[in-house]
Amino acid sequence: MPMIDDNGAITRENVRVAVYRTLAHSGLAPDIESLAASVEASPDEVRAHLHELADARHLVIDDDDNIVLAHPFSAIPMGFSVMGRETLWWGGCAWDSFALPHLLPDEPEVLVATTCPACSRPHAWTVSRLHPPDGAQVAHFLVPVAEIWDDVIRTCKHQRIFCDESCVDDWLSSSGNRRGAVLDLATLWRLSERWYQGRLDHGYQRRDPTTAAAYFREVGLTGPFWGN
Ligand SMILES: [Zn+2]
Ligand SMILES: [Zn+2]
Repeated sequence: MPMIDDNGAITRENVRVAVYRTLAHSGLAPDIESLAASVEASPDEVRAHLHELADARHLVIDDDDNIVLAHPFSAIPMGFSVMGRETLWWGGCAWDSFALPHLLPDEPEVLVATTCPACSRPHAWTVSRLHPPDGAQVAHFLVPVAEIWDDVIRTCKHQRIFCDESCVDDWLSSSGNRRGAVLDLATLWRLSERWYQGRLDHGYQRRDPTTAAAYFREVGLTGPFWGN
């Protein structure tokens, strides 16, 4: 356990919530100075907390301490855009993009857009929190869940939506990758539905591998890829 006094732990959680709420509200990651102002701490304290949050996998920072990912939010393009009523987000991966309407109270439906990695055909869906979108496209996840955090940016970049199975096969052979998991859009939507629940609120706890595996099973995803 890191040695952190209660005030430090409270400030760290305030930093986490401020990062998430800024991304939710604006689509943009806050910088250290604006975080310091919003949590009433020094920039150095905020920087230290960002590193602790990254170590605990609540977010991903780059070498200059910029926030890159705070799942399901992304500060960098990963193949998806998500348009709300007044806000535009980089969607992160397929899983993250489909999660946004479930997490954002004021955005019951969003427009998710991408291109097929194999043939570059454009695809877009209105994704709501009520039911999965129509569409015969498929998502392909390359990296098994046990290895997600080995290189989480690479993992997210390879959770994409393709026209169909034949485009998945084309991409796998041209990129020299082995097949991961293929999900239809309804399954992708169910995966995204409750995965990030609570992340905008204080006191959020990440799932451990056991509860994550149980969640995957509940939404119909089973086997070694999903760790269950
Ligand atoms: Zn295609
Ligand atoms: Zn992702």
